Amino acid sequence: MTKRYFVIGAGSIGISTALHLQQRGLQVCLIDRDPPASATSYGNAGIVNNCSFYPVNNPSLWKKIPQLLTNRRPELRYNARYLISYSGWLAAFLRSSGSAKTRHAASALASLLSGAPDEHKALMQRVGNMHRLNESGWLRLYRQKPKQFFSDLEHDLYHTHEIAIESLNKEEIRDLEPNLNPIFESGYLLKDSMSVNNPGMLLKEYFQHFLNSGGEFSQSSVTSIARTTDGFKLKTEGTTFDANVLVVCLGVWSGQLLKTLGYRVNLGTERGYHQHFHILPDGRLTRPIYDMSAGYILAPMEQGLRLTTGVELNHWEAQPSYAQLEQVIPRAREALNLGSPTDDPIWMGCRPTFPDSVPVIDNAPNDSNLWLAFGHQHIGLMSGPVTGKLMVQKMMGEDPDIDLSPFRSDRWIKQGRG
Ligand SMILES: Cc1cc2nc3c(=O)[nH]c(=O)nc-3n(C[C@H](O)[C@H](O)[C@H](O)COP(=O)(O)OP(=O)(O)OC[C@H]3O[C@@H](n4cnc5c(N)ncnc54)[C@H](O)[C@@H]3O)c2cc1C
Repeated sequence: MTKRYFVIGAGSIGISTALHLQQRGLQVCLIDRDPPASATSYGNAGIVNNCSFYPVNNPSLWKKIPQLLTNRRPELRYNARYLISYSGWLAAFLRSSGSAKTRHAASALASLLSGAPDEHKALMQRVGNMHRLNESGWLRLYRQKPKQFFSDLEHDLYHTHEIAIESLNKEEIRDLEPNLNPIFESGYLLKDSMSVNNPGMLLKEYFQHFLNSGGEFSQSSVTSIARTTDGFKLKTEGTTFDANVLVVCLGVWSGQLLKTLGYRVNLGTERGYHQHFHILPDGRLTRPIYDMSAGYILAPMEQGLRLTTGVELNHWEAQPSYAQLEQVIPRAREALNLGSPTDDPIWMGCRPTFPDSVPVIDNAPNDSNLWLAFGHQHIGLMSGPVTGKLMVQKMMGEDPDIDLSPFRSDRWIKQGRG
C-alpha cells in the first residue's frame, strides 16, 4: 500500500519540506489552518544568507542584562508574567549563552546556512520567481563608531566560515545608500547576503508550484494527533486524516499539538512586528539596512519600506504591544525620509526559539514516523528550503549533506509529564 505523507504547517519550513518530499515522487498532503505563508513566514525582513548564525544568547548577553531589565530597549522587551511561566525555557536560554555553547550553536547554524542561499535560488529557478531576489548585500550601521564590530568569538566564527565582510566609513556608507542621512559613522556590508522583495508572496509561489505538481492542501486546524497501528490520526475541527508518515512544521505552535501525543516541548516565543511605509523619491534604499544603534531593520519590499522590530518575549496569544515599533519609527525617520504608513495593517509574527537557538530537524524521540522541523527562530525564511532538503534526506535513510546531530529532538523534547 502507498504510504500517506502529511505535513502540518504551511510556513517556510512546511512548504519547503512538502516540496522536497514531492520531488521524491511522494504524494503529499499539506495542512494549515490558514492560507499558506500567512503567519511568521509572511512578514519577516526577507533576508536570506549564510551568515546569520551568531545566536542572540551569546556571551555579551550577560553584560546587557541590566539595560534589558529596564524593559525599554528596542532590541528586546519582555512580559514578566510570560517569563515567569516560561522560567525553565529562560534559564536554559541564559545557560546556553556561555562561549562554548555559543560556539557550538553558531557552528551548527553555520553548517545549516551554508546551503541556504543556493537552495532558495534553486527553488526560485524551478518556480520562476528569481525576480524577487536582490543580491546587493545587507548593511549593518552604527551611529557611533564602536571600538570593534565583533567580539573575538564572533570574529573567529566569521573568519572560520569565510564570511565576506566589507568595513565602511561614513563616506562609503553614503556611496552605497545616498538617500540615508549622514548619521551613520561606520558599518559593514555583508556582501553575500541576499534579500527578497516579498517573503509571503515568494512562499505562496513555492506553494502554488507544489499544488501545480499534484500536491494536496487542506485548510484545517488540527486539534489533536493520536497514534494508530500504522501511523497517526489527525483530528481537525471538521474531519480526520490518517497519516502513515507525519511531519510537524508548526513553528511556535508545535508544542501545543505535540502535547496531544504526550510530548513536552521546551520552546519559547520571540514576537516581532512590522509596518510598511510609502517610498518617497528621495527615500529609496537599494538593500536592507540594520540600524544597530537603534534596533530596527528597514527593508525595501513590494509593499513599500518594511520596518521590522527586535524581540518581544511574550506568549503568541497575548495582545500585541506596539511599544517597540513606536520607539523605533522616529529613529528610522532620523535615518531616512520615510513616507507615511501604507494602509497595510501593523503585523506581528512569532519566532519559535529553542533555548540553544538551534532548530530541531529529526524524528520525535519515541515515534519513528513522526518528523519534526521547527524552532528556526530568526532564520526560518532563509533556512526553509535547506531544512526541507535535509529533513527528507534523513527521512529517506540517506546520509544528510551535513551532520544533523546538533539538531536532535531529544535536546528539548521529552515524552511524559515534567
Ligand atoms: C520581525 C521578524 C523578522 C524576521 N526576519 C527574518 C529574516 O529576515 N530572514 C529569516 O530567515 N527569518 C526571519 N524571521 C524569522 C522567520 O520569519 C521564522 O523563523 C519563520 O517564518 C518560521 O517559519 P515556520 O514555517 O517554522 O513557522 P510559521 O511561518 O509560523 O508557520 C507555522 C504554520 O503553522 C500553522 N498552524 C499553527 N497551528 C496549527 C494547527 N493547529 N493546525 C494547522 N495549522 C496550524 C500556522 O497557521 C502557520 O502557517 C523573522 C521573524 C520576525 C518575527
